[in-house]
Amino acid sequence: MSAQDAEKQLRVLSAIMKIHHSIGANLELEEIGRILVAELADIVPSQGSAILLFEGKDVMILAEKGFQVMLGKGKFTTDMPALQHIIETKQSIAAGDIGNSKAAACVPAGCAMNSMICTPVIVDDEVRGVIHLDSMQKDAFTDEDLQFVELLSREISIAIDRSLRYSRVKAMAVRDSLTGCYNRGKFDEDMTSSLSCCSRYIRPTSLLMIDLDWFKAFNDHHGHPRGDELLKHVTTVLARCIRLCDKLYRYGGEEFAVLLPETGREGALIAAKRICRTMEEQQFPGADSSQPGGKVTVSVGVASYPEDGATNSELVAAADSALYEAKQQGRNRVCTVAGQDR
Ligand code: GH3
Ligand code: MG
Ligand code: MG
Repeated sequence: MSAQDAEKQLRVLSAIMKIHHSIGANLELEEIGRILVAELADIVPSQGSAILLFEGKDVMILAEKGFQVMLGKGKFTTDMPALQHIIETKQSIAAGDIGNSKAAACVPAGCAMNSMICTPVIVDDEVRGVIHLDSMQKDAFTDEDLQFVELLSREISIAIDRSLRYSRVKAMAVRDSLTGCYNRGKFDEDMTSSLSCCSRYIRPTSLLMIDLDWFKAFNDHHGHPRGDELLKHVTTVLARCIRLCDKLYRYGGEEFAVLLPETGREGALIAAKRICRTMEEQQFPGADSSQPGGKVTVSVGVASYPEDGATNSELVAAADSALYEAKQQGRNRVCTVAGQDR
């Protein structure tokens, strides 16, 4: 073995160890992708390199170096011939003179490349992405280069699999298991970050505390499982009442919270009244036999930053006391700390 070969083997080995370590230490896929592409560029000289991941038919660039220079910024999909071929065969494409190879049809029009390696990233027996390398030089890549890329693809498969599981668990951790809306933990987190942004930029924000009226009567009459069903149904109705940038949380039991960013008291009152009205108009199965007036209604307490409180706990206390006021005044209504508004 020549001294040059030995030196390259050492670099490959150290790159593999670095990648192993980064995968062990990082759960965030972007960071792993960035390290992989940097190591890849170091070991296998190329014009463009990239790790591409598939999301349905869309192709996302996880990390790249010199790749977009050639392909441009346009979005691309798994309909591209090279990707279709890899998805079907689950095999790498490797060519040193693409124009005169079987892979000619796989190269997008206008791409000035002669050598290419494109290796599938397989998770659960499904091609979830590719590692791509290209060069304008003919025969730019060796068999060892291909082996190295294939080894990397196995490494990234493990990282993707783990990262997808991690994202799923992370997504579940902020959700309420019954209704699927955000939970109390997420509420506390969002309130804190939202108020710190508001105070920095002096922006308004509002909070609605929503409590179902006479929910115990529904449970007592129909049983707890039907009560659970009602909570799920109410969640979908509430979610339909709010804007995309607003967030709905199950605060606890039959109490919900809505965070309205960039919204002062007037806007919050409009939203709260819309919720009250929509709930009243909605037909909930079973309501006619258990609920006063035959309707499932809500009471809403409204509190706004900065006038009703400056911290998470001050705003929650203000919205709670407004909600208490709404209950005291007869339910199915909206109150602010300053008084009833319906
Ligand atoms: P008010 O108008 O004063 O709010 O009356 P209410 O009956 O809604 O209030 P109360 O606090 O007396 O009762 C709330 C009920 O909500 C009692 C509790 O069993 C029920 N509850 C809390 N969490 C759940 C749940 O996850 N599922 C079901 N089915 N019921 C729940
Ligand atoms: Mg209640
Ligand atoms: Mg309650």
